[in-house]
Amino acid sequence: METVLRDAAAASRGAPLRALTVRVGPLSGVVVDSLRFAFESLAPGGPAEGARLVVEETKPAFRCPDCGTLYETPVGDYHCPACDSVRGELVAGNEMELLSIEV
Ligand SMILES: [Zn+2]
Repeated sequence: METVLRDAAAASRGAPLRALTVRVGPLSGVVVDSLRFAFESLAPGGPAEGARLVVEETKPAFRCPDCGTLYETPVGDYHCPACDSVRGELVAGNEMELLSIEV
């Protein structure tokens, strides 16, 4: 919230926030319901009061070191679809990124 308010204040000169969009990977350790609860708890009384929290949830993505395939997969199934290797290297899915702030 501190990052959002600092960036929004610099961009909007105090205008109220309308929406925040964040991208959350399933391996980030962030529980989306908890994130929403925290936002709804922190927003009242400040510039983010009344703003929507938009959450884009991603799937884990891996690069196979054996055949080079880049693939998305559901949590718990990390096999390369091309060669069945289980040595995939995580390239996305552990992120929590603030994508945009709408004022
Ligand atoms: Zn592979």
